[in-house]
Amino acid sequence: NQMTVIAAYEQRTPRSRKHFEEVAQVIPAGATRSLNAWPPHPVYLESGAGMVVTDLDGNTYHDFLANYTALPLGYADPDITRALAEQVASGTVHSFSRTGERELAELLAARVPSVDKIRFTGSGTEAVMFALRLAKAYTRRTAVAKAEGGYHGTTDEVMISVRPAANLAGDAHAPRSVPEMAGIDESRVRETIVVPFNDIESSAAILRAHSDRLAALILEPVLGVGGMIPADREYLAAMREVCDELGIVLVFDEVITLRIAPGGAQEHYGVVPDITTMGKIVGGGMPIGAYGGRADLMALLEPRGGTDVYDARSGGPVLYQGGTFTGNALSIRAGITTMSKLDAAAITDLNAKGELLRRSVTEAVAGTPVALTVTGIGSLFNLHVGVKKVHTFRDLRGIDAARQHQLFIALLNRGAIIAPRGMGCVSTCTTTEDIEFFARAVNESLIDITGE
Ligand code: PMP
Repeated sequence: NQMTVIAAYEQRTPRSRKHFEEVAQVIPAGATRSLNAWPPHPVYLESGAGMVVTDLDGNTYHDFLANYTALPLGYADPDITRALAEQVASGTVHSFSRTGERELAELLAARVPSVDKIRFTGSGTEAVMFALRLAKAYTRRTAVAKAEGGYHGTTDEVMISVRPAANLAGDAHAPRSVPEMAGIDESRVRETIVVPFNDIESSAAILRAHSDRLAALILEPVLGVGGMIPADREYLAAMREVCDELGIVLVFDEVITLRIAPGGAQEHYGVVPDITTMGKIVGGGMPIGAYGGRADLMALLEPRGGTDVYDARSGGPVLYQGGTFTGNALSIRAGITTMSKLDAAAITDLNAKGELLRRSVTEAVAGTPVALTVTGIGSLFNLHVGVKKVHTFRDLRGIDAARQHQLFIALLNRGAIIAPRGMGCVSTCTTTEDIEFFARAVNESLIDITGE
């Protein structure tokens, strides 16, 4: 019954349609973020409060995507709005460092086990870029390893083997590095080694085979964009051991997972990396990224680097970090407000809601004719259409991509937002009723897309 779902969507969103046709004249695909361009046309949002957003046609939606998990307090949280208004009155970004950075840095260093020292960046992408460069400078090696399906932002070295199904190449135990798009530097493709997520033996063997040139292994403790697939604790622990043995810097990308415990997934799993990258919730809805780690590693950013790679000629830091808008007072203030409100009790509560959502949806879809699996952890979830079991990234090859997209559209018709590929989360303002509504909407949407 695909026509009905798409036709209903078109009927609900004529203004978005018109806007799409006009804006596509000046912005390619009508969207700045490629994910936000989907057929037959995107909806364009006008406003948001709590977890409810309103589109150009006046339709309202419960937004379970919350800007790809960046808004744990929902839209227009009153405390954040007030903090930002106060800050705007004394300037947004300044020539020299502002004192506020200290509070956010101390807060994160106190919470995240691996972080002695931390630097802020403009985005998660930049955090990963600087963290990997730090690992390369520290080890004096050139290559990095990442998991198949791991998403770490958009630089060449990590835009490798990210998307599912069609793109996967090589044996499941020895995946090949596949550039995600044209324009990615071929030499970088050779320097990015791909390991199979949650497969201890194969990952260890691949790391061993390339150990003399591997600076870092970067892992999401839960594959995020790649389907909200939690790592097995044993997998992370094994990767920690192998990295120690081979002198490889272990980086945990906690841009998404920091929200699952006060100290992030590394606290939840009890496995501590050398460097951690962060973003999203750390900026409370404003642009940010951060990377932090052991003092001896972070010392490469100091004028008198604490290791033997200290650059004696210049007397300056081994590594230079720039960014005109980095550490801007708005991101820092919003971040302090958000992270302070997101204390241990709030996170426990958030995780309980996530658990309830995953359980409610799983129960609600039990009798429907389409297989749907709910993955996730804490306040994070992903709906997968057409697959029964999801443990490794390659399990997602079974996804029914056409129906996955129809589910996304059918949910929009019923007033619920998730990512086109099924990612979502709960926020502190999500209620039990919202969760019941969502479970019902998923059930009804599955019926919508299967027809009579
Ligand atoms: N790492 C992970 C795990 C992410 O999920 C993302 C963004 N979704 C990034 C890095 C990149 O962050 P940003 O979009 O802020 O550049």
